[in-house]
Amino acid sequence: MSHCAVCGATLDDAGFVQEYWVGDDRQFLCWCAACGAMSTVVLTAAVVSHEPEH
Ligand SMILES: [Zn+2]
Repeated sequence: MSHCAVCGATLDDAGFVQEYWVGDDRQFLCWCAACGAMSTVVLTAAVVSHEPEH
């Protein structure tokens, strides 16, 4: 899904991801178990709206 911006390790199984909303933006707070770095991935409302609705 995503990779650590610091060491490049995959965050799929080794990292911690917390999903939350800030206004209309969807944000993922990621923690890398390999190097301990934290990063935030932001999906804006415009990006989220591209997902098909069922
Ligand atoms: Zn890392």
